[in-house]
Amino acid sequence: MTSETHSTSAQDATPIGFQEHDHQACVETALATAEVRCNEAGLRLTPVRRKVLEMLVQEHRALGAYAILDRLRDEGFGSQPPVAYRALDFLVQHGFAHKIERLNAFVACAHPGAMHSPAFMICRNCDAVAEAQSAPVKGMLGAAARAAGFEIERMVVEAEGLCPDCTEKA
Ligand SMILES: [Zn+2]
Ligand SMILES: [Zn+2]
Ligand SMILES: [Zn+2]
Repeated sequence: MTSETHSTSAQDATPIGFQEHDHQACVETALATAEVRCNEAGLRLTPVRRKVLEMLVQEHRALGAYAILDRLRDEGFGSQPPVAYRALDFLVQHGFAHKIERLNAFVACAHPGAMHSPAFMICRNCDAVAEAQSAPVKGMLGAAARAAGFEIERMVVEAEGLCPDCTEKA
């Protein structure tokens, strides 16, 4: 069991979830869940993979690969881009994180372990990201696909708008 009580994140890691929540518990739960799932699946949550996941979980905001690389360097994990990319690939491939195509950036999965079609709500002002689940197969697109004889295998919804904080400030 590793204990990481210190956060050396350069910025103040204010929770940017859309709702008030116990962010410390949220981070701990996400990391603990990832450790359990990796153990069960025989995957190795190496220190660098764990650190990248921790960075994503801290934020509730999309982080680009270069921002992640900068932080890895600050934390002594080296500055080679493949280090960040390989860790991100692992996290995305195994469902611990998602890539937000629109921002070319990454977020921690809010529902790790569940097979799901994520629907992202992305704030265009501050890049805060909240993840909901969608059921495309049950929706109108699903009906259209069935009518067309098309089988949907993967669908990601990326909705853009303003988060509650930015709406308030606007
Ligand atoms: Zn949180
Ligand atoms: Zn997810
Ligand atoms: Zn915002």
